[in-house]
Amino acid sequence: MSIVRWARGKSPWYFHYETGSCNGCAIEVFALQTPLYDLERFGIMNTGNPKHADLLLVTGCVGYRSGRVLRNLYHQMPGPKAVVAIGVCALTGGIFHDCYNLAPGADKVIPVDVYVPGCAPWPEAMIDGILLAAEKLRGAPVARDRRRLVEEEEPPAGGAGEEGKA
Ligand code: SF4
Repeated sequence: MSIVRWARGKSPWYFHYETGSCNGCAIEVFALQTPLYDLERFGIMNTGNPKHADLLLVTGCVGYRSGRVLRNLYHQMPGPKAVVAIGVCALTGGIFHDCYNLAPGADKVIPVDVYVPGCAPWPEAMIDGILLAAEKLRGAPVARDRRRLVEEEEPPAGGAGEEGKA
């Protein structure tokens, strides 16, 4: 792993785009910057410029108009980059998914690496998703299905336990 890639993964900057919804998720993202959740303790910082960002956090329903802005912001970010969709609105459109003017999820507009479900998700879940996205910047494959990630980490049945007995 190159030193540049290692450094990116250790201190990624994120850009947050609220596409427009009830703003509940956006307020929880703002809470990540408060001393209570203190996202900066992981070296992860907020930036207002997509050209400086490694991570894109998306909250809210993606409309066909805001989707154009979202795609534009995504393409302004230098690579490697990762996208975290936060809240059921960004994942599927949520309670608004049948609206004529909405795309059913941010992943219909840009590639999404990590999905954080909830309405609104807990800030702890958001931190979990952001850390997973930071792993992608370090070159680790990001498991979209968190159950699969857990299964991969679990030792095979009787594996570690049997070794310990021997
Ligand atoms: S997922 Fe819930 S809290 Fe978040 S923007 Fe949608 S309606 Fe609001």
